[in-house]
Amino acid sequence: MRRLFAAFLLSLTFSIAQTTHTVQPGETLYQIAQQYSTTVEALQALNNLSNPNQLSVGQVLEVSAQPASAAQRLTNLPAPFILVRLPSKVIQGQAFRVRVEAAGNPVEVSFIGANYKVEGRDLLLAIDPLQKPGGYTLELRSAGSSYKTTLEVAEANRGRQALQLDQKTLSLLQPKKERAELNRLLSICQADQGPQTWAAPWKKPISSNRITTNYGMRRSYNGGPYRTYHEGIDYAAPQGTKVFAPAPGVVALAEPLFVRGNGIVIQHGLGVCSGYWHLSKILVKPGQRVNTGDLIGLVGTTGLSTGPHLHFEIRVQGIPTDPDPWYLRAP
Ligand SMILES: [Zn+2]
Repeated sequence: MRRLFAAFLLSLTFSIAQTTHTVQPGETLYQIAQQYSTTVEALQALNNLSNPNQLSVGQVLEVSAQPASAAQRLTNLPAPFILVRLPSKVIQGQAFRVRVEAAGNPVEVSFIGANYKVEGRDLLLAIDPLQKPGGYTLELRSAGSSYKTTLEVAEANRGRQALQLDQKTLSLLQPKKERAELNRLLSICQADQGPQTWAAPWKKPISSNRITTNYGMRRSYNGGPYRTYHEGIDYAAPQGTKVFAPAPGVVALAEPLFVRGNGIVIQHGLGVCSGYWHLSKILVKPGQRVNTGDLIGLVGTTGLSTGPHLHFEIRVQGIPTDPDPWYLRAP
């Protein structure tokens, strides 16, 4: 139900459990953003900073803790593997790259209950934000040979919201329609395992820095358990604000949806797709190729939404990931 409830939250107030950072002499907002794998824009929005150059020593900033994990080259590989690179540690909601070469042989990867074929030499994977922290086996198979390694999944604290929905709101929810819409989205996102389209960090798809709900915030409804989370970033902006493609790709869906309103899905290769919901106007067509910075639509409040905003999400193999790191250095 999480996707459906997600649309109702604009007008609700909540408190976010955040990690904080105390500004040290000589530090810039850019350096701090890098340290936490986030963006200057995200920190500005989080801390209501109109001027990123006006920091004072000792100032306490709120940051989302997202420790970056560098990819490591594994050694002592059995034939036919000649190169395997991947991070040893990832956090919930993070996307990461597995690079593998097996002397020209096809490679299959098993990870957390799913199997993937490596096209070329790169595979992008992601950790579901609700995946239990701990060690998980990643197995590579090629030409009858198998190699296993353990990937550590760490917890990301992105805050919690306890929401109360009234009966009228609850009555608008239609689980069957919601499920069908999500399944369609997932099949589009998982279908595209072609070559990666982006060669640089992604651009923010909108000029607004007013984030009303961040990615990954855990949610409880009417006193229930914290079983769901927000799958993208909500940027509040006036009706009609321009929405741009954050990276090159091909439009796979551009039409009104029940929950998500006027929606666009762009495929970016390697099992990556991006979604833009609640638009007032769609300015692209399915099959259309787009480049970074192309105008694709206008902000609105269509579908199940309480006010004009852009919900932006990036899925990897169907799993919604934190968009923030993509702006700084795409996985
Ligand atoms: Zn949203």
